[in-house]
Amino acid sequence: TATIIGRPNVGKSTLFNRIIGKRVSIVDDKPGVTRDRIYGQVEWRDKKFTLVDTGGIEPGNEDIIFSKVLHQVELALESTDVIVFLVDGKEGLTPIDEDVAQILRKSKKPVILVVNKVDNFETQSETAFEYYKLGFGDPILISAAHGVNIGDLLDRIVGYIPDEEIAEY
Ligand code: GDP
Repeated sequence: TATIIGRPNVGKSTLFNRIIGKRVSIVDDKPGVTRDRIYGQVEWRDKKFTLVDTGGIEPGNEDIIFSKVLHQVELALESTDVIVFLVDGKEGLTPIDEDVAQILRKSKKPVILVVNKVDNFETQSETAFEYYKLGFGDPILISAAHGVNIGDLLDRIVGYIPDEEIAEY
């Protein structure tokens, strides 16, 4: 399992839909309620894994958003092989990103730092240095909207997906 986390509006559902390859309808009949986690099955280079998209657009102040993102992080940490931590390459890092990063660093889960909305590599790639300070090594720069570097991201993800589980006795 790979789980996409990040604050609202960084492009989680855009990335999820890009990888899954079809529009997943987000049914949310109660306004203001976070959409649930959405699961999709991915096959990439002989590996199969479940991709999880967390949390939709959440109205509310920073504290409410942070607590909702935090809840998704806690759920993800229980059940995922790798965290796909998405940040916004247009807007840059926010305090919520930094707080989430701190929690992720304390966990032992592998984290792939993904900078989304890098639609223009010539002008935006130099800003990527900002993201090294989060402490997850090389960020991967993508454009979910335009489908740039998605294959590289999937290569990174499957590196953390175990082969078919073998029963141990
Ligand atoms: P979520 O709240 O994290 O699930 O974010 P969404 O997937 O709903 O995307 C939030 C907004 O960012 C939408 O308006 C998307 O069209 C936009 N967006 C997503 N990916 C990209 C991208 O690669 N480039 C640009 N320019 N916009 C993007």
